[in-house]
Amino acid sequence: MEPFSYTRPEETERAIALHASQPQAAYIAGGTTLLDLMKDTVLAPPQLIDITRLPLRGITVTENGVSIGALSTMSDVAREPIIRERYPMIAEALLNSASQQLRNMATIGGNLLQRTRCSYFRDPFFACNKRTPGSGCAAITGENRMHAILGTSEHCIATHASDLAVALVALDAVIRVRNSAGERRIPLTDFYRLPGNTPQHEHTLAPGELIVAIDIPATFDASRSGYLKIRDRQSYEFALTSAAVALVLDGKVIQDARLAIGGVGTIPWRLRAAEASLQGAALDIQTFKAAAEIALEGAQTQQDNEFKVELARRTLVRALTTVGGVQ
Ligand code: SF4
Repeated sequence: MEPFSYTRPEETERAIALHASQPQAAYIAGGTTLLDLMKDTVLAPPQLIDITRLPLRGITVTENGVSIGALSTMSDVAREPIIRERYPMIAEALLNSASQQLRNMATIGGNLLQRTRCSYFRDPFFACNKRTPGSGCAAITGENRMHAILGTSEHCIATHASDLAVALVALDAVIRVRNSAGERRIPLTDFYRLPGNTPQHEHTLAPGELIVAIDIPATFDASRSGYLKIRDRQSYEFALTSAAVALVLDGKVIQDARLAIGGVGTIPWRLRAAEASLQGAALDIQTFKAAAEIALEGAQTQQDNEFKVELARRTLVRALTTVGGVQ
């Protein structure tokens, strides 16, 4: 690990000012991603700004929905009764992530900014356009069983690692970020960037901007929702495929739906066309299978991950049958 300086401000404005004075600095909260990357010499920020003492914790119910402070831990949010009642898919996505010890440390803001688990990204011996722009992509010709099939480019095929982001993208969550000029809001569906020919740029945060909260609007009733994660082992493992599903029903007819899938996209993958196919449709397995066909249209596989297309379809269908109560 390279040497670095360390500061721990107690005010948000102070933290932002410190970052402005050292643009190569990094904010650190739970540190569950950043410290790993520093130990692997993938990242070497000259200064760490510890934000754990900033007043950015807690879950607030507002007239517009629920607001989650960015420094709330994954465990805090997963056990919050209002989250479990109104947004079961969020609680389930969190409880299917990492380990209990990591969930006790990792924050919601950090979770949304976690870096890819592509093993080539994490090993400086290999070419990686995300780590070293222009160096190539070792995954495209290497082992790519875990890699993406949606949103890929010839420069990067890494999957986005966050389960939480999949659920939040489905729910049209908005992140609030702060900089020296004030605060702005970014819909999470606009936050993540496809790799294209610049995979090193993963999101739309400006340097030094700080996520302060995540707002979940109350415009959609997600009380009937769930998160299904398929992985090689049942705990402490990243998704091969996952699905976040919410349904609003009128008897045996689907009134409305929110869908997103994970483990398959370079960003959390919202399924708007599949959602549209469900509106007004009969609540049955044929409807779900048709939606799953639409969901995976355009998938592009690599030599090791063709299986993900059918696995993702089945994951989505199973999540829909579970949430919809279809036998
Ligand atoms: Fe790097 Fe992306 Fe290729 Fe992985 S898939 S080696 S992160 S460029």
